[in-house]
Amino acid sequence: MPVKSKWSIDIPQVSLPTYLFGSPDGPLPTTPTLISTVKPDTVYLSLHTYRQWSKRLAAGLQAAGFQPGDRLLLFSGNTLFFPVVIQGAIMAGGIFTGANPTYVARELAYQLRDSGAKFLISAEGSLDTALEAAKEVGLDQSHIFAFDDGFATFEGRGKGVGNIKNWTSLLASEAEGERFKWEEATTKEQLDRTIALNYSSGTTGVPKGVMITHTNYIANTAQMAHLGRLTADSEEKEKRTRLLCFLPMYHAMAQTIFGVGAAKRGIPVYLMPKFDFLDMLACVQKFRITDLTLVPPVVVAMSKHPATKQFDLSSVERVGSGAAPLGRDVCSELEKLWPAGKINVKQGWGMTEATCSILGWHPDEISESFSVGEPNANCAVKIVDENGKEVAQGERGELWCTAPNIMKGYWNKPEATKETLTPDGWLKTGDIAYMDKDGKFFIVDRMKELIKVKGLQVAPAELEALLLEHPDVADAAVIGVTVNGEEYPRAYIIPQVGSKPTEQDIHKFMEPRVSRAKRLVGGVRFVDEIPKNPSGKILRKLLREQAKAEGEAP
Ligand code: AMP
Repeated sequence: MPVKSKWSIDIPQVSLPTYLFGSPDGPLPTTPTLISTVKPDTVYLSLHTYRQWSKRLAAGLQAAGFQPGDRLLLFSGNTLFFPVVIQGAIMAGGIFTGANPTYVARELAYQLRDSGAKFLISAEGSLDTALEAAKEVGLDQSHIFAFDDGFATFEGRGKGVGNIKNWTSLLASEAEGERFKWEEATTKEQLDRTIALNYSSGTTGVPKGVMITHTNYIANTAQMAHLGRLTADSEEKEKRTRLLCFLPMYHAMAQTIFGVGAAKRGIPVYLMPKFDFLDMLACVQKFRITDLTLVPPVVVAMSKHPATKQFDLSSVERVGSGAAPLGRDVCSELEKLWPAGKINVKQGWGMTEATCSILGWHPDEISESFSVGEPNANCAVKIVDENGKEVAQGERGELWCTAPNIMKGYWNKPEATKETLTPDGWLKTGDIAYMDKDGKFFIVDRMKELIKVKGLQVAPAELEALLLEHPDVADAAVIGVTVNGEEYPRAYIIPQVGSKPTEQDIHKFMEPRVSRAKRLVGGVRFVDEIPKNPSGKILRKLLREQAKAEGEAP
């Protein structure tokens, strides 16, 4: 039998803007909720001003010809206005998509083309990349806007760059913004409208747009809020909660936890413009952060780096990690930064295709293993064998989930959707898991191709296709290998007959074509054969075994 969550909650049947802001014009708190870590006293948004800016953008987008269902792509690191662009695009009836700010032009062009974005807002510092990508896909320059660092917008100094206007030129006047009302969602069809495309390669192939709906975001936010409130005196705890966001907002984890969940409840979120380890520790100390939402490389760095002990981290009450595997030993090391018994590092599990999160921990329970907990409210999971048949408790198999936060499907990819979602609504995660006798889940391996580098997705199929463009490469396969405890891509290459490429040649070819996380840090191996099944599918499991036998050093 599938394991159903012990909890069931009501999921509000409204649009995401209504869930977040209540209504287009009702009173809202004016206390700071999204706060710049650089200028915290002056540069912040309250829920009231967050809605005001979003409405001005929505009205302005519509006036600029942005139609219902159109896509807007934001290519930027985190600024105070990142969540405003998300909500503005959604309020205007459109679809938001965010691209990794470290992308090179080729990668950005892929997402622009795949999503069919009509508007592109790009960080000023990345405009060269944005313009190159836009040219490649034929996006008109009049639909490209420069995104400043947020302070310039806040202080009314955003000017644009050359021919490219500042994004604030899209904003309607304050009075027009005031009058703007977003269309409410009440019917199932409206609630299931796609409002965001978050890119993920899923279990196989190249990155795809994961269609996330009003209901998906709301369900997942409500589930996470519900879990947090299971603890005793949760209201008191919530009053003193202060969060730090350094995770990228183009990814669902930061969008859901900070941009929607915390903001809705008026919880102060201190937003770092970019991740810097020492700066992060300084922010925890300075802003008396209570909750740390971490990814494994940051947990490792915090537990090992001698500088960690120089900061006052006494304000921290809760620490969570997700996005990639993490051993219990590292969690225990991290816990030693606080007095015994104060902090219990808990892991959660999620996936872009599930909006953000599916498995988590009751806040009052103590995790003594690397378990990722149990199903969130309204979620059910099961573990199945290769025929989709459930395995016995304790046995390993593929994790499948069903929940109101599971995506609608992949954008324009019905075949990939069919391979990933069963007709009765189960998401095939591609992760190998087991459940212990207490109903706690453990993620032990990945059967899907996906490689995760510092929590970021790397799709082997994308790197393989690129390698095949090299004139000296006859065939290629990419797998993840572990180097110094971190996962990185490694390429196995069959050279063209008569050519002898070197590892350096391959790196030189790849580096300008991919962002940093996709570099072949796991090394390059030249081989005579790549193991494949009769239909030509790469047998990655065999390659992984080969890599282990070779030793995984690059
Ligand atoms: P993403 O869609 O980028 O959030 O990546 C989802 C994938 O990250 C999952 O399918 C897992 O392979 C991996 N993942 C996420 N959380 C965990 C975790 N706590 N432990 C192990 N793997 C994880």
